[in-house]
Amino acid sequence: MFGLFKRKDPVCGMKEEKGRGMEKHGSWFCSQNCLKQYEKRPKSHSCCH
Ligand SMILES: [Zn+2]
Repeated sequence: MFGLFKRKDPVCGMKEEKGRGMEKHGSWFCSQNCLKQYEKRPKSHSCCH
C-alpha cells in the first residue's frame, strides 16, 4: 500500500513523514503539540472555509 497523496499537518503545514507523527481526526500531525493545538481550535465552518 502506498499513499497516492500525501497529507499535511493542518496546524504547521509539515508534510507527512513515514514513521513520524500521528494520525487523528482523519488528519496527520507531526507532533503531540500540533495535535493539541488542533484540538484547541474551534472548527471552522465547512461551508465557507
Ligand atoms: Zn506540526
